Amino acid sequence: MRLVLLGPPGSGKGTQAVMLARRFNIPHISSGELLRQEMAAGSPLGGRAKEFMDRGDLVPDELVIEMMGQRILRPDCSAGFLLDGFPRTLEQAQLLDALLEKHRAPISHVADLDVPEEVIIERIRKRGESGSGRSDDTVEVAAKRLQVYWAQTAPLSRYYRERGLLRQVNGLGTVEEIQGRLVQALEA
Ligand code: AMP
Repeated sequence: MRLVLLGPPGSGKGTQAVMLARRFNIPHISSGELLRQEMAAGSPLGGRAKEFMDRGDLVPDELVIEMMGQRILRPDCSAGFLLDGFPRTLEQAQLLDALLEKHRAPISHVADLDVPEEVIIERIRKRGESGSGRSDDTVEVAAKRLQVYWAQTAPLSRYYRERGLLRQVNGLGTVEEIQGRLVQALEA
């Protein structure tokens, strides 16, 4: 299974990704996590990505593509993988398809966690009010990331629907309920 998991920031996608990867026994590859590791390691890529990530903007396609391409071609991905946070733009999706086509191992499944924008906005607002130590700045960045998602990443649903790969899953409910729906949609 070569799976892409889509869903807005704050949809619980990361949690679901970890559970799905375990269930299907495939590596969970999170582009955000890999970028944070690059930053922590002080690599040139991490240095270039930081300003974009701090603002809630997308890191330029060519940097992310290069990093993810290398990761996907590692041997542990030969029997499949779960991509979380990538692709995030149409250009990334097209370049990913081109890369995988070359290796005759195309994306087999795409699951899209469907959470209404109002619900996500309410979660961001509550987090801002909760006094959890998060600054207004963080709420602003979260709002920015959401805006970027609707503008640049949401169009990917259509891209994958047109290719007959998209499975839309209701993202409201408990972690277990959502996981159950995802598994059902992916095994169908
Ligand atoms: P995430 O952990 O997936 O929410 O990603 C955190 C941040 O990393 C995002 O806000 C972006 O700045 C950057 N990032 C992660 N994945 C990508 C991607 N596929 N393309 C561009 N930027 C990304």
